[in-house]
Amino acid sequence: MADYYNILGVDRNASQDELKRAYRKIALKYHPDKNPGDKVAEEKFKEAAQAYSVLSDSDKKAKYDQFGEDGLKGGFGGGAGMDMNDIFSHFSDIFGNSSGFGNFSDIFGRRSSGRGRQYNNSGSDLRIRMKLTLEEINSGVKKKVNIKHMVNCDSCNGEGGSNTRTCPHCHGTGEVRERVSSLFGQMINVQTCSTCQGEGKVIKNKCRKCNGDGRIMKKDQIEINVPAGVASGHYITINGKGNKGIRGGMSGNLLVMFEEIPHHLFVRNDSDIYLTAKISWPLAVLGGKIKIPTISGNVSTELKPGIQSGKYLRLKNKGLPNLNHRTNGDQIVKIQVKTPTNIKSDEKKLISDLDKMYSNTKVEISKYK
Ligand SMILES: [Zn+2]
Ligand SMILES: [Zn+2]
Repeated sequence: MADYYNILGVDRNASQDELKRAYRKIALKYHPDKNPGDKVAEEKFKEAAQAYSVLSDSDKKAKYDQFGEDGLKGGFGGGAGMDMNDIFSHFSDIFGNSSGFGNFSDIFGRRSSGRGRQYNNSGSDLRIRMKLTLEEINSGVKKKVNIKHMVNCDSCNGEGGSNTRTCPHCHGTGEVRERVSSLFGQMINVQTCSTCQGEGKVIKNKCRKCNGDGRIMKKDQIEINVPAGVASGHYITINGKGNKGIRGGMSGNLLVMFEEIPHHLFVRNDSDIYLTAKISWPLAVLGGKIKIPTISGNVSTELKPGIQSGKYLRLKNKGLPNLNHRTNGDQIVKIQVKTPTNIKSDEKKLISDLDKMYSNTKVEISKYK
């Protein structure tokens, strides 16, 4: 026996607002579009929808509180349960279109657009990864990529063949309904017709080249213009370069996901670049000019006398270009004073003489930081 409060993870005194929030969280987590093919997630998603549909209705909630699930049997027409379309019809109430869930309203929009789903033969998006060096990211780069994608079949002009007729399996509706038993009783499972893939019609004389698909696999080379300043996780969309849909369907998009190859020297943080410079102790004491590599070449900078180990130098605008502004980040150089090891005897003599001058200030004690 499912406990609807447990399913939503709320206590029995939860307000409508709390119920809504709890359901929203679960629904987003287990949404079928986010968990394709995951039967467990789908079950959890349906469970939560069922629980919410009861607890959000004051009448049903009262019956459930008093009698448990048995109290609902009458109200549910023998416990007919919910099908996916019912569940998705909730989403407009809960998430709305102005909910700030831009991506999700797309998903929900597509899934919930009307009962009796619409046949959709749009092609899928194609995702590829592109590895970039930090130098390429710094300058921006044009790169050619080889892809394999579905394109229109030139033999049948994308139609898949000739002589079409109504699908004998679904009689043109494109979907097949079956009654299945579930936790909540009988449920109507609506599935896309496997004979016509939801199109409602079948082709009698299939094109031989594409086997009736209206599209064929093709290799292509595409030039990608990578803007300067991108980072791992960024991607660009090339419209219409994904897979062509079957039998004249729209083409999906090509998504190029960028991936930064770690640099052997530079560490990136947004548009700033970090580097360590180890300097000799005489240089730290006396100061002087030093040469520092940056992503755009060596720069020379002046060290002030007496620089301390652990101090940072900031080289303005020597970082990476900012994707959104016309500015550059900085390069930040951590200074480390190197303590010499393996010194020769004449060096040792010099340093010992120097050491005698410091006899009173060899160790300075201070608070730990
Ligand atoms: Zn063809
Ligand atoms: Zn059919």
